[in-house]
Amino acid sequence: MPDYVFDLGARPALPVLGTDKLFAVRRIYCVGRNYLDHIKEMGNDDRDPPFFFQKPTDAIVPMGGKIPYPPLTKNFHHEVEYVLAIGREGFEVAPDAASGCVYGVAVGIDLTRRDLQFEARDAKRPWEIGKAFDHAAPCSPLKPLSGGPVPAKGTIELAVNGATKQKSDIELMIWNAVEVVSQLSRGYRLMPGDLIFTGTPAGVGPLVRGDKVDASLEGVGSVSIEIV
Ligand code: MN
Repeated sequence: MPDYVFDLGARPALPVLGTDKLFAVRRIYCVGRNYLDHIKEMGNDDRDPPFFFQKPTDAIVPMGGKIPYPPLTKNFHHEVEYVLAIGREGFEVAPDAASGCVYGVAVGIDLTRRDLQFEARDAKRPWEIGKAFDHAAPCSPLKPLSGGPVPAKGTIELAVNGATKQKSDIELMIWNAVEVVSQLSRGYRLMPGDLIFTGTPAGVGPLVRGDKVDASLEGVGSVSIEIV
């Protein structure tokens, strides 16, 4: 072991369903726009191609739980998303080969300081302040594909205090799972441990302290958080 000045402890990781193993997280990529109804609610042009941003690895909150209301924002939003976990190296991967890079799937919440994201967007600054903060990526345990296909259909849903706020189907993604992997691999060499949050459907909205949030993806899993 290298003799580090500070011991940073174990890597951020997600539990893998059906095993006692952990999926160590290397990077967290996110798709900016991937459902037409959400693109419209954000006032953007639906002809724009998708783009990617990252969250810090240690923003992952495995299996959800209590999330502190973040600093600087007055408009803290939920975005439920289908999450892909990469298990094989891939660079410039064709869509029909991309499923071989996917180890497992999950459901996560791309927590967003919307006011700061929009300020950054309008000033043509990076999105980090709005997207890449502490506790910004709660995620369910990973469901390994175990040789099965990458899910392409299923209800994705998020409720706040029992009231449904977001409900769609992952088959409505503009860029489906394997196309997202293929597109992302044109810009980055994907490696085992990478997660991809694939974009949110319409219905994003604000959270306040005390809110209980339940997110689920049919056949994949669920994650719950409480804002404190
Ligand atoms: Mn998002």
